[in-house]
Amino acid sequence: MKNLQCPKCRSRDVVRLPGELQPPAMFSGAKPPSSFKTVRTTRYCCATCGYTEEWVDDPNDLQDLLKKYGF
Ligand SMILES: [Zn+2]
Repeated sequence: MKNLQCPKCRSRDVVRLPGELQPPAMFSGAKPPSSFKTVRTTRYCCATCGYTEEWVDDPNDLQDLLKKYGF
């Protein structure tokens, strides 16, 4: 979806939402552990069908996630 075309309906009406716009309640209302550092993400939303996709902005954050949650 980074190419700004919806993979579901092929619409090009895709909006980009900064991660800061996500209310914390999006995470099931559960508070993350204090040791969990904030991972910045960007969400893409199709304005035609409503499909959303979320990307982690920083490759370093991906490495941290891999260390923490990888197999
Ligand atoms: Zn769509």
